Amino acid sequence: TLARKPLMAGNWKMNLNHVDAVGLVQKLVWTLEDKRHDPKKSEVVVLPPFTDLRTVQTLVDGDRLELGYGAQDLSPFDGGAYTGDISADMLVKLGCSYVVVGHSERRQYHGEDDNTVNAKTIQAIKKGLTPIVCVGEGLEVRRADQHVDFTISHVEGALARLTPEQISSLVIAYEPVWAIGTGEVATPQDAQEVCGAIRRWLAERYGDATADQVRILYGGSVKASNVASIMAQPDVDGALVGGASLNPEEFAAIARFY
Ligand code: PEP
Repeated sequence: TLARKPLMAGNWKMNLNHVDAVGLVQKLVWTLEDKRHDPKKSEVVVLPPFTDLRTVQTLVDGDRLELGYGAQDLSPFDGGAYTGDISADMLVKLGCSYVVVGHSERRQYHGEDDNTVNAKTIQAIKKGLTPIVCVGEGLEVRRADQHVDFTISHVEGALARLTPEQISSLVIAYEPVWAIGTGEVATPQDAQEVCGAIRRWLAERYGDATADQVRILYGGSVKASNVASIMAQPDVDGALVGGASLNPEEFAAIARFY
């Protein structure tokens, strides 16, 4: 796992306006400095709403902590008559490095399926953004003990038509839906079971060299108090953090897990 730099990504979801964003990012940077965060030991990324991206861009400009940022969604299309949508080029122009694709809330509330997630993943890569592709099962699937197969089918759907070279650069986030925003955390062993299965599947399909480069995150009620045990798992390379990323001290402590 040494080759893969841990990634701590904070998904703000539909919270905070561009004024709140100033306070949160400033406090996050101060706290990381206070805790002697070493950017070589974990990469810290914030994922604000579209309307806050310009503000975040201004705040992190020239920041020596190298705080990264990105968006929570993108259009699969280049541009044109798609009212309300945001293109990859627009995100690139705002300095985004990352974009979340296929979050369970988009799958649930916007009907995104494997084809949509695949089209958005391809578009992100084509435009130079690193997609954070979200996969994972709901409670019924977990109870039926189908969580590994179900999650692998999400991965297979999301990555259709990608080359091994494209795959090596992407980030996959395993998020069991029953553990998102519920305070219900999968055990470190649960996280490892599925993250390990994803990496084995990648290795079988695309080869070890590719599989070894893909960063696989765990997401679902990650907090400062549980991050270390999750990060101790060999196939977990970081966390996608929702609620706790809205508290700068908490998120800084998560980023400073090492
Ligand atoms: C998420 O939605 O990506 C997430 C992990 O949320 P939370 O940390 O709040 O469970």
